[in-house]
Amino acid sequence: MTRSVLISGGGIAGPSLAYWLGRAGYAVTVVERAPGVRGSGAAPVDFRGDQLALLERMGVLDDIQASQTGMGDQTVIDAEGRRLSTFPSALFSGDVEIERGDLARILYDHSKDVAEYVFGDHITGLTQTADGVDVTFARGAPRRFDLVVGADGLHSAVRRLVFGEESRFRHDLGLTIAGFAVPNTFGLDHSGLIYNEPGRLAMVASGRDRARVAVGLMFAGPAPDYDWRDTEGQKRLVAEHFAGVGWQVPTLLAALRDAPELYFDTIGQIQLDRWSAGRVVLLGDAAWCTGPGGNGTGHAMLGAYTLAGELALAGGDFAAAFRRYELIMRPAVAKSQKNAAGAARFLTPATERKIRSRNRTFRILSSRPMTGLFGWLAKRTANTGKLREYPLPYPARSPAAASK
Ligand SMILES: Cc1cc2nc3c(=O)[nH]c(=O)nc-3n(C[C@H](O)[C@H](O)[C@H](O)COP(=O)(O)OP(=O)(O)OC[C@H]3O[C@@H](n4cnc5c(N)ncnc54)[C@H](O)[C@@H]3O)c2cc1C
Repeated sequence: MTRSVLISGGGIAGPSLAYWLGRAGYAVTVVERAPGVRGSGAAPVDFRGDQLALLERMGVLDDIQASQTGMGDQTVIDAEGRRLSTFPSALFSGDVEIERGDLARILYDHSKDVAEYVFGDHITGLTQTADGVDVTFARGAPRRFDLVVGADGLHSAVRRLVFGEESRFRHDLGLTIAGFAVPNTFGLDHSGLIYNEPGRLAMVASGRDRARVAVGLMFAGPAPDYDWRDTEGQKRLVAEHFAGVGWQVPTLLAALRDAPELYFDTIGQIQLDRWSAGRVVLLGDAAWCTGPGGNGTGHAMLGAYTLAGELALAGGDFAAAFRRYELIMRPAVAKSQKNAAGAARFLTPATERKIRSRNRTFRILSSRPMTGLFGWLAKRTANTGKLREYPLPYPARSPAAASK
């Protein structure tokens, strides 16, 4: 029997899997590199369409709704702040939007009683044998597990240790993103502003917490060389790419200098021929990072549910479970990767003419007669169909939810 599972990564996919496996009676350990549950500078993530059924089945929908940003439409403006176009809330915020840090906290709270969490540590070595995986850690003592899951994000260490260097599997989307939070001096209330200059985008949005805004600064181009540990260096890179950009960008750059938390990354997609090797399997961004607009969060949680469900169905045959999990998840992930591949062109058009053309398209799409079409477009890659039934201990459902 497979009974002990080590999950590397306590972000979104990791705690979701810990929840399902822990409830099913597995001995689950989650090792997270960060010293605690990570915030993400108020960066939001969203759920849409069929994804809500999974949140409900997991018993986390109420908590997520209670913390949702309630974000409305986002207005595209010119350098003087005049409205040029609108991105309807369905585009960026889906049906329910929540700050990633709040979601991570909710998933941790829902799984912490059925899993052991080890913060501030990470895997340094994995050796597979016929009946287990011997794991060494940077800080903790070596341990043996039946299975190891790499849910450690785009720059997964488990993937590197078992499958090879990230560069072999990574396809850059030509976009770099910096996310941080600043005080709300924009008067925004469940709304956002978007400003473009060729190859660059600045967005500010204020949702649940009206005291602050989430800032996103994005620039197009080849992935810059940077040290992921060097936050000050990342701040300098952003300032260089936005030097001379108008509107409120100089104010945002000044605020960036003091921002306590920064999310910074070059956006890429991960494409692997296989997501498992022996007793090790990848999940979420580690396996298939899709990039912006790629349902990364929803797919991470659906993947966790599917992996746990297939393990439960397969009894001890984890290899069969890994194959089925991959077979089920691949089509949805491929669709989302295709959709997200054009993110840079859409978010940071290369010329003034292309910016105008995108804004014109959105003026039409956000007009009333097009609302239905727009709603469908915004959900099409999230709609993965009815949830599979698995022999998992589902949480009790409220009578109202059960009758749906
Ligand atoms: C801080 C942060 C901010 C983000 N902001 C945005 C955003 O603004 N927009 C957007 O579209 N997507 C964003 N994402 C990505 C998006 O949230 C993911 O698509 C989604 O969360 C997928 O979940 P995941 O659990 O697979 O990966 P992640 O959410 O990336 O979680 C991976 C976890 O693994 C941990 N980890 C990394 N390396 C190791 C290691 N060696 N050992 C142990 N743990 C490790 C990380 O600290 C993290 O907690 C962000 C991710 C992070 C981590």
